[in-house]
Amino acid sequence: MVESHAEDDCLFCGIIAGRVPSEKVYEDESLYAFKDVNPKAAVHVLIVPKRHYANVAELAAADPELLASMVIKAQDIADQAFHGAYRLIFNTGKDAGQSVFHVHAHVLTGEVMDE
Ligand code: IMP
Repeated sequence: MVESHAEDDCLFCGIIAGRVPSEKVYEDESLYAFKDVNPKAAVHVLIVPKRHYANVAELAAADPELLASMVIKAQDIADQAFHGAYRLIFNTGKDAGQSVFHVHAHVLTGEVMDE
């Protein structure tokens, strides 16, 4: 599989633009958050920046404040869903399981996770 880094065929750019349906959890001028279609926890939300970056390292280098705002939003979601306990995952690279090359934070919460 070829890793797509182009914005014009990016699934998450399509979701942010409203061309692809999603279950929105949160939106502001720079972030969009929605439910993962294949949840791995009782609450599984994806947080994405509206601006396209391929992965978390690219985002961190270009706009560290935007990355920090994603972490703060993850905390907000977990505060509401599960007394502030959560996992925050950025799969980076195909061999680590990244399948969408628009940076996204997986927020996994809503249940006790002991493994
Ligand atoms: P990755 O494997 O870390 O790149 O995560 C991509 C995530 O996007 C997976 O957990 C998928 O279940 C999720 N996903 C793929 N398509 C959609 C969609 O259309 N809406 C919501 N989540 C999606």
